[in-house]
Amino acid sequence: MSTKRPCAVCGMEFKPRRSDAKTCCGTCRKRLQRGQHLAYTADWPPAQQQARRALHQTLADVITTERTVRAARRERRTIGRRTVTKLAPLSRGPQRGGGIVS
Ligand SMILES: [Zn+2]
Repeated sequence: MSTKRPCAVCGMEFKPRRSDAKTCCGTCRKRLQRGQHLAYTADWPPAQQQARRALHQTLADVITTERTVRAARRERRTIGRRTVTKLAPLSRGPQRGGGIVS
């Protein structure tokens, strides 16, 4: 996903390089770590602050959902690879890894 989203610290719209990016740049990322989530709404009226909070919460939910979907896809790919089994030479014998190799 590469649609623009507002930065969680300065509020500027940015095009995320990572699908789970919450901030526009390293500076904002650091500020977020220091607890400045939604710092740009500090002097806004409470109603607008709340609306903004809801928007960022929705974005966070979308990111979580995408992450879950990607993990499930990755899991399915891994299972798909596992079903393709190769046969090792039986001459090695089952004790030394002969037979089905995962
Ligand atoms: Zn920012």
